[in-house]
Amino acid sequence: MKCYVCAINGQNTEAAGICIVCGMGLCTEHMKREDVDLWEGGYPFPSRKLKKSLPRILCPECYTALHG
Ligand SMILES: [Zn+2]
Ligand SMILES: [Zn+2]
Repeated sequence: MKCYVCAINGQNTEAAGICIVCGMGLCTEHMKREDVDLWEGGYPFPSRKLKKSLPRILCPECYTALHG
């Protein structure tokens, strides 16, 4: 799959990820990656942050739509 944003600009860049919202292919330059932190809770112990986070890849358009 090719990067959709690059394709619009007439470039032919191999996609490295896919927007989870609209599904367009994105190269590393155009993907917006957001890491969603995972928290492990267990009453009565305070929550502690896990080292793992879930990557979310968004295209610039969806990123803008979600973040204003
Ligand atoms: Zn690109
Ligand atoms: Zn998108």
